[in-house]
Amino acid sequence: MKALVYHGPNNAVFEDKPKPKIVESTDAIVKITKTTICGTDLHILKGDVPSVTDGRILGHEAVGIVEEVGEGVFNFKKGDHVIISCVTACGRCENCKKQMYSHCENGGWILGNTIDGTQAEFVRIPYADTSLYHIPANIKEEALVMLSDILPTGFEIGVLKGTVSPGETIAIVGAGPIGIAVLLTAQFYSPSEIIMIDLDENRLELSKQFGATKTINSSIGNEKTIQKVKDLTNAKGVDVAIEAVGIPTTFDLCQFIVKAGGHIANIGVHGKPVNFHIESLWDHNITLTTGLVDTYTIPLLLKTVQSGKLNPERLITHYFKLSEIMKAYETFRNAAKEKALKIVIENDL
Ligand SMILES: [Zn+2]
Ligand SMILES: [Zn+2]
Repeated sequence: MKALVYHGPNNAVFEDKPKPKIVESTDAIVKITKTTICGTDLHILKGDVPSVTDGRILGHEAVGIVEEVGEGVFNFKKGDHVIISCVTACGRCENCKKQMYSHCENGGWILGNTIDGTQAEFVRIPYADTSLYHIPANIKEEALVMLSDILPTGFEIGVLKGTVSPGETIAIVGAGPIGIAVLLTAQFYSPSEIIMIDLDENRLELSKQFGATKTINSSIGNEKTIQKVKDLTNAKGVDVAIEAVGIPTTFDLCQFIVKAGGHIANIGVHGKPVNFHIESLWDHNITLTTGLVDTYTIPLLLKTVQSGKLNPERLITHYFKLSEIMKAYETFRNAAKEKALKIVIENDL
């Protein structure tokens, strides 16, 4: 089969690999129908994720059709239409029992990391019973690729950990796919104001269509951005500041726009240390949360898509075939110039 294979920093090749086989009785082999590229894949390609080694097939988000199951798989059979969760859960370890699947002792984020991933014709999914989700009939498949990772990430780590509540004022720092996923799912809780902050004017415009009530272009610098947030909030700041970028500047910004008693929910993947401004926050009664997605909300999010409350298809800006995956990466790498948010890659092989 064909797959996108990592061969060290800035070197990925679309090449032939053996079709995966059942290794453990709890495995399933899934034929990929649609997959996508994540910001994390770009980090991997830069060489930022040392656990990814030469020869690894990339990708951790996809939908597909079950091709084969091991004899220990009971919930799925050949032909079932499924969402692949970006985290693999054994369902039996201490962390899985707490629904903290991201830290499953036998799984977690392994797809496209320590085991072969989804940017291929087929993928092997360990612990299939607890790592796959059935797709109901009459629901558009491309929208559901967004349920593998970005929507649960935005919802669990941004909205739920940040405890977004009715009437609150929230700020989302970063209007990329994850920031937009926060924006869409925060609206389940009816915050009164959603302030979107980003450097890219196109993404800010898009945010308005997705429900942002105010936008701030932070190219004016942190000091002026903080002032603008204060101006919009009676000098108080926001109830919840959600960090969806992963660099020191944006983390800093969150610390200065959160109001007394508020929450900072960090989603961004940070590669560098940040300053924690305890000198101004020690008496501020704030909470700070971090986390890797557990994807326990996939079934709930699926129901909101089914009912029409959530339309994740709106995140998709570009479509490519699997045979054009190198072109898809080029587009995603130049997301600002290409006005790309989420790219869907269809298996045409
Ligand atoms: Zn991802
Ligand atoms: Zn586990």
